[in-house]
Amino acid sequence: MIPNNSPWIKQLKRTRPVVPLATDVTTDVAIVGGGIAGVTTAFFTLRHTDKKVVLIEAGKIAHGATGHNAGQIASYFERSLSDLVATYGLERAIDAQRSVESAWSLIDQIVAEAHLQTPLYRFTGYAGLSRMEHVLQHLEDNRYRVAGGLLPESIVLAEEWDGLKSIPDGYASLYTVAPQRDILSLLETHNVDYVGALASQKGCMNSALFSEELIGYLITTYADRFSFFEESPMKTVRLCKDGAVLEVLSHEVCAAKVVLCTNGFEHFSIMHEGGPDIDTSFHQSVAGRIGYMSGYVEPLNRPPTAISYLPKAHNENNDPTGESYFYLTRRPHEHEGNNSYNLTCVGGPERVLPNGADYSQDAVYAEDTRIAITRFLQDNYRTYPREGADHIFSWHGLMGYTSDGIRRIGPEPLNSALLYNLGCNGVGILPSIFGALRISQYLKGEVVPSSLFDPARR
Ligand SMILES: Cc1cc2nc3c(=O)[nH]c(=O)nc-3n(C[C@H](O)[C@H](O)[C@H](O)COP(=O)(O)OP(=O)(O)OC[C@H]3O[C@@H](n4cnc5c(N)ncnc54)[C@H](O)[C@@H]3O)c2cc1C
Repeated sequence: MIPNNSPWIKQLKRTRPVVPLATDVTTDVAIVGGGIAGVTTAFFTLRHTDKKVVLIEAGKIAHGATGHNAGQIASYFERSLSDLVATYGLERAIDAQRSVESAWSLIDQIVAEAHLQTPLYRFTGYAGLSRMEHVLQHLEDNRYRVAGGLLPESIVLAEEWDGLKSIPDGYASLYTVAPQRDILSLLETHNVDYVGALASQKGCMNSALFSEELIGYLITTYADRFSFFEESPMKTVRLCKDGAVLEVLSHEVCAAKVVLCTNGFEHFSIMHEGGPDIDTSFHQSVAGRIGYMSGYVEPLNRPPTAISYLPKAHNENNDPTGESYFYLTRRPHEHEGNNSYNLTCVGGPERVLPNGADYSQDAVYAEDTRIAITRFLQDNYRTYPREGADHIFSWHGLMGYTSDGIRRIGPEPLNSALLYNLGCNGVGILPSIFGALRISQYLKGEVVPSSLFDPARR
């Protein structure tokens, strides 16, 4: 039986006592959920407005998806850019892509202003392409990037690959060719299925440590108008004309605005007094998937990286033990008081959480998914298992997929006292932070241009 054992939570080493809500409170803004979305929403709201902010967390700060992810900073959607363009048009799709990419500089801003020490590594990361459809899709995405005024991503294809002849001439300026061995070297794989590599800006960060440190900064910097409470699950949000009342433990939080940063809609209800019901299909459209990861401690002898592998075989039934999409990150890591280590994390296997089923963070790690990760490493990753590598961490976390793969950020159309920054999906660090800034703009009363993230778009 393998417990849920995340390296990010282990690195928190927190000593701060848990303080649950012990009295009724009144505030300008109540933020529900203390993951990276909730904490950064508090940061920008406190920074850009003079409002009083109360943050309510059901468990502990950053112990949800934020403490159980791959810790990879990446700026793509879980739909291709071409797909977004086909559905929403070039302008809106590019605007959404640009918005997510803008969060890179927001992270820098937060780190600099709050003097955070959480290590943040930036580098060029890679995605390994093995099928013609992967190659064509990324070339098409690149075409839209250029058409929309974004920089193209670099695509290198193997000069030995037969498929090169079938690539339409119109894509010629969007890729380069190189010997396959160079591509395999970038991807750190011996698997000759890979015929292309897509390069883009990526990074690594412990988003739980980042959130925990940021909370420390907020408490000291905004002591007069910021407070937060842990182990304080909100049971109900009652929306009325002038605001909202949150039922938390046996107390009430009265707020002019409430921002849900809850990753999904588990274990609480929303009541809309004197108004139409808040669309419950919105709740149901945030479906859960459980992502599984393994972490290996190795000697510190290679630079940080992030590589995704899109395999040749199809995984038609989304079988968690079958071939699917795998991703790997590597970063320096302190182990047993010594900094001379790397931590290599691998994820990919997922399970759908059936509608209405409860996800438990305490559930043991599914053995078959661990085996799938080991098999992936053996088949694909040139340098694993390495001499001296220890398999130390196995963990899982809940991703709250939205039906359209796009985060919900902004006011509820039926009552603007309620706002959302949620629907994490598997790539949520940058969208959460972009969402945090955007929510602060709504709360400040700015006119916020419409976007694909708007709940009103539903
Ligand atoms: C296995 C896995 C791998 C991932 N890998 C990556 C990656 O490499 N890169 C990336 O960008 N993203 C990744 N993600 C997604 C990323 O972790 C999330 O998008 C991000 O952490 C979302 O943050 P959040 O604050 O929205 O949600 P969470 O961190 O889940 O925070 C939500 C918080 O709300 C609280 N809450 C919920 N209901 C209530 C309530 N009723 N009352 C009070 N509090 C409540 C919860 O306790 C929780 O702490 C991954 C996710 C998983 C699960």
